[in-house]
Parts: sequence; C-alpha cells; structure tokens
Amino acid sequence: MAQVQSRRGLLLILSSPSGAGKSTLSRKLLDWDQTIRFSVSATTRAPRPGEEDGREYYFRSREDFEDMVKTGEMLEHAEVFGNFYGSPKAPVEAAMKAGRDTVFDIDWQGGQQIRNSALGRDVVSIFVLPPSIAELDRRLRSRGQDSDAVIAGRMAKSRDEISHWAEYDYVIVNTDIDNAFNQLTTILQAERLRRDRQPQLADFVRGLNREFETR
Ligand code: 5GP
Repeated sequence: MAQVQSRRGLLLILSSPSGAGKSTLSRKLLDWDQTIRFSVSATTRAPRPGEEDGREYYFRSREDFEDMVKTGEMLEHAEVFGNFYGSPKAPVEAAMKAGRDTVFDIDWQGGQQIRNSALGRDVVSIFVLPPSIAELDRRLRSRGQDSDAVIAGRMAKSRDEISHWAEYDYVIVNTDIDNAFNQLTTILQAERLRRDRQPQLADFVRGLNREFETR
C-alpha cells in the first residue's frame, strides 16, 4: 500500500439504525476521497441480491467466523439480528500504517469495542439519526429487499441502536443526504487537521524558525 501521508490513518466509525443512510454516506465518502478504505466486515448472514463476497461483506459460515474470532483476527465482533458480524483487524492496521483512513459501517457494540481498544485514540465516531421514525420506516420499506417480519425486527433494533447516540463524538441528522454528506466531510477534514494528527508540523515549524533566524 502506498504511503499517502505521514500521519497515522484514522478510524471513522459510522453507526445508525438501518435505513438512516449510513451506507449511502460511506459510499459517497469513498468516491469523494479514494485513499479512504472501507472496512469490509465478515458476517454469517446470507448475501442479499446484488451483494458480492469481499465487496459488501465476507460471507462466512458460523464455524469459519468463530475461528476468526478465536485466532484473534477480529478487531471487534457482535451479534446483530441473530447473525454475527465482525471487522477483520489486519487490513485496518495496514491502512493505518500507510496513513489511510478507514471507514466502518458497524453497530454500537462494534463502536464501543473499537473505542475501548488500543486503537481508541485513532477513532472518530459519528452517529447518523433519521429525521423521524416514520421516515426510517419508509426508507426500510422502499429498499424492497426484506420481508415484513425482517423490517419489524429492524425497527425494534433501531430503538435500541438510537439509545446509544450519546456515546459518539458527532451526530448527523440525515434529513437531506447532500447536507448530511457535507457535514460528514467537514468532520473528517477537521479531524485530519488536529494537531496530534499532523506529525510533520514540528519539522515545519522548525523550518519557519530557521527562516526567522536567517532574515
Ligand atoms: P446489514 O445486515 O443490514 O448489512 O447490517 C446490519 C447491522 O450490522 C448494521 O447496523 C451494520 O452497521 C452492522 N454491522 C455490519 N458489519 C458489522 C461489523 O463488522 N461489526 C458490527 N459490530 N456491526 C456490523
């Protein structure tokens, strides 16, 4: 992986109830800056139509998933809607070293685990809220991919997910996707400019001081 910048890459965690727009936001973010990596999770759930192994998820058997957990390959993992989901650690560490930011589309349980891990100081976490529950319900139905029973389950889980909003560094209310995306890139740009994420600054300022002395 090419060295794109001298800082460590940061870990941008996006959580929200399903249907609040975080998948659209993360897709737009990857188009906006192609150095950003998406953390492809492993899951035991079945692929939906159009999903490809290795692109949206690594689709794994329960047995293989448990092996990955046992051998310490997961940065975090959790059970969501009766299936297991987890973020493989190796690609994240490689991206960080190469100075590339990684975006995670994971639930509050995963967010908590990464925030509390050794990588916690590299985390920027963002919670995406829907403008209303009626709108969340409408967005879930308009996907046309899940049965009524699955949608009812997701709505119940939404309430639980939303209860964790205050654990996040930032909150975006996704009323309008373009506006929400602007807010997302604003957060990322500001976080990249934090002094402790610009290790080259000390050298830069030394250069400014040399310039003072030679005037
Ligand atoms: P879906 O099955 O709709 O793709 O995802 C269901 C939920 O699982 C979403 O809230 C998604 O953010 C979450 N999720 C996806 N991958 C992971 C993961 O690796 N870890 C955790 N903790 N949650 C995940």
